[in-house]
Amino acid sequence: MLIIEEHLHTGVLIYIWTKYIWRQLLESRQRSILKTYEVAPVEIQELIRDDDYRNYQVYALYKNVLNVFKETANLGLTTIFIVFRSYKKLWMRSTEILIHLGFDESHDALRTTIFLTLLSSCHFLVNLPFSIYESYLNNDYEHNERVTMVEAVLSHIITQTIIFPFAYLLVVVFKMGGDNIFLYMFCVAELEAIFDLFDHRILEPLPPCELRNQLVAFTEENDFPLFDIFLVESSGNHHSKVFVHGVPGQKIIVLYNNIVSHHRNGRHSELSSRLLTVDEILALVAHEIAHWKQWHTFIRFLVHQTRLVVHLASLRFVMNYKPIYEAFGFEDKPYIIGIVLLQFYPIFDVCNFMARAINRQLEFSADRYVKRLKKDRALKSAIAKIGNHFSLFPVQDWFYSYCYYDQPSCHERILALDRYKSF
Ligand SMILES: [Zn+2]
Repeated sequence: MLIIEEHLHTGVLIYIWTKYIWRQLLESRQRSILKTYEVAPVEIQELIRDDDYRNYQVYALYKNVLNVFKETANLGLTTIFIVFRSYKKLWMRSTEILIHLGFDESHDALRTTIFLTLLSSCHFLVNLPFSIYESYLNNDYEHNERVTMVEAVLSHIITQTIIFPFAYLLVVVFKMGGDNIFLYMFCVAELEAIFDLFDHRILEPLPPCELRNQLVAFTEENDFPLFDIFLVESSGNHHSKVFVHGVPGQKIIVLYNNIVSHHRNGRHSELSSRLLTVDEILALVAHEIAHWKQWHTFIRFLVHQTRLVVHLASLRFVMNYKPIYEAFGFEDKPYIIGIVLLQFYPIFDVCNFMARAINRQLEFSADRYVKRLKKDRALKSAIAKIGNHFSLFPVQDWFYSYCYYDQPSCHERILALDRYKSF
């Protein structure tokens, strides 16, 4: 093996171990926060019940320890794959199985499918005990269904059957696309972004009620070009409760229907709050209006586009860079191996970190606007209630939060709101 390939091989090993140590340090920072704050910090004490806080804390601690074991097991597996050049061995095994099934080596799609099945089965076996334990944890704290060993194996088999058409399509698309494949991928991502501009969920107009009157008055005070207000079916894991959509000059406000409900009483519609008070909803709307006023949607669009271009350019580079294949024992450049090797390329982590940092600043900036409107008290209780609704532990180490989440934690936002000066 040439020196450059040897360096690349060692570099990948150093990278995955450095990333592992880095993540363990972050987990240990968060673990010490979980242990230090036995009771809720004073800033949020009146916003969360003691027993809820304690429950989320125990759950977060279990998840933290589970992550440590899970990441260590996965690091062990990846290290074995790199040190023993097992990707190449698995690829050769896939070729043998292909020939055994009566096909020749020209059946790339089938060989890719066999390779993906073998690779994902290795990951499945390593992660199986953690997945089952995690489902037991979730069952106790979030009341989800417990997953048994048989169910987990069945679900894995179903996933494998989905891999067949996916792998076939992947190879066909890459073969047809040739060197222009990355340009086509960019176009598809752009079309998807345009599609997302139009909300295709079923929206129900918010009936005349006190909340509607207050929202209309509030948007007029803030020069927000309101077209209408709607309710939408709440999606299970969506942490946002309000969002703003629409084209310039014709904006709509959409509220998730699990925060408000209405029922007809004769000719009148009555609104009752399920989760948030009218004032808290106004504070959340103020936060969304701040995003619009401060051009955050446009900034996020630019960040998204930059990230997309960097990702695709890196993908093109890695997939055509022969030494990286040779570093793992390959003489040719199978598409699927190029995709698998992307996980060892640090540019994606750097890009995601920067995008996350920008997004978090935008969130703080929108909260600052809410403080200027003197709705910070309502915003604080809305944030705490939403966190509570999703059983989230409200305190996070600031650096841990910075490295993992687009949104600052409940405690970080409340501390920042307290720090901002009133205008
Ligand atoms: Zn926001």
